[in-house]
Amino acid sequence: MNRQIKILIHTIVFTLLTLLTQIGGVVYLITFVFCRRIKYSFPLKGLAIFLIIYSLGTFVTAPLLAKLFNRERIVHHDNLQPANYMTVLMNRNYVRPEVNNYLKSVSDALHRQNQELMIRYLDANFPLIDGFPLLPHLSHSDGKKIDISLVYEDGSGTIVNSSKSVSGYGIFEEPRKGELNQTKACQTAGYSYYDLPKYLTLGSINDDLRFSEKGTKQLMLALTQADGVEKVFLEPHLKERLSLKSKKIRFQGCHSVRHDDHIHVQVR
Ligand SMILES: [Zn+2]
Repeated sequence: MNRQIKILIHTIVFTLLTLLTQIGGVVYLITFVFCRRIKYSFPLKGLAIFLIIYSLGTFVTAPLLAKLFNRERIVHHDNLQPANYMTVLMNRNYVRPEVNNYLKSVSDALHRQNQELMIRYLDANFPLIDGFPLLPHLSHSDGKKIDISLVYEDGSGTIVNSSKSVSGYGIFEEPRKGELNQTKACQTAGYSYYDLPKYLTLGSINDDLRFSEKGTKQLMLALTQADGVEKVFLEPHLKERLSLKSKKIRFQGCHSVRHDDHIHVQVR
């Protein structure tokens, strides 16, 4: 293969791995060094070496280095888990210690009220470097942000702790007739990318599940009442539908993206 095309492909892979997992690009480079050093040849050698170094990086090195940036992995509890374990495998589960304290108090409060309801987190922050954004969430760069899944239920009204898309993003609880349609307002004002998350589903699942008003309201109350929370983003029509009064719940502005597929939390 032409040398320039090879360099271009490696650059694209390096960039993508870095944007998606932060450490993946560096692991990709280290893999080349090891591939050369290890003379023994076997099928999928490069991939095997990459996966071994990546696993060590994700589960050993990154948690240690994260401490230098005042970050740690989200601590899981019985009722606080990642919506998709890929979040953990891709190093998108790091927060400041204050956020873990906050999440612990939210999970304790919720556990006392409703043992069926689980807090299912989505993207948080990367382990290293303040200012390094976790795409596509530009603001998730300081260890203080975390996205949380809406709550869903089955036809009988029983809470089901699952998502409606593979990624946990992009399936919207649309405004009903008579409710404020913020998406329409933002798009009319020229913010055409306001509903960009519709491209981030990675496929829709669990079509039979529906938005749980009761479950999401309980979750929102726990999220806004615990100490340490600065603001929570939820689309205005859902705030109104759930009769939520907290001043912590804000509209994020048209320059951002819609929040009727997930909840965004920012801790002080
Ligand atoms: Zn967010």
